[in-house]
Amino acid sequence: MKIALIAHDKKKPEMVQFASAYQSVLAKHALYATGTTGLKVMEATGMKVHRFQSGPLGGDQQIGAMIASNEMDLVVFLRDPLTAQPHEPDVNALLRLSDVYRIPLATNLASAEIMMHALKRGEFHWRELMHAKQAKQQ
Ligand code: PGA
Repeated sequence: MKIALIAHDKKKPEMVQFASAYQSVLAKHALYATGTTGLKVMEATGMKVHRFQSGPLGGDQQIGAMIASNEMDLVVFLRDPLTAQPHEPDVNALLRLSDVYRIPLATNLASAEIMMHALKRGEFHWRELMHAKQAKQQ
């Protein structure tokens, strides 16, 4: 599974705590992140993370592009709902694409934790089945 991690500035400490707490689950998957979030997660956990541009510089759009190609399986996007973001249109685009492609997306810690428990239990296997089906059609 390919998992994207994104956190707005005020949510980065929460993301680091989250990634550390669920490291045993996350480490079994391919991790992607926006620039600064990825750096902080790598520094805190030592896990390998593919880093895109920083969010305001296009990182959200790069993750959105992966979603549009059905190459992202799950997104944890810890948004800061109390601070205006210069790249709000990119944030909205990412949320929209996740809905278009029905990609599981958590926008706060509580739902992200539920996702991790579901991931651990193998409840996202349907994504792998979809990939297999897609490969057959090509
Ligand atoms: P960052 O981007 O991880 O590079 O800070 C996240 C964002 O603000 O969208």
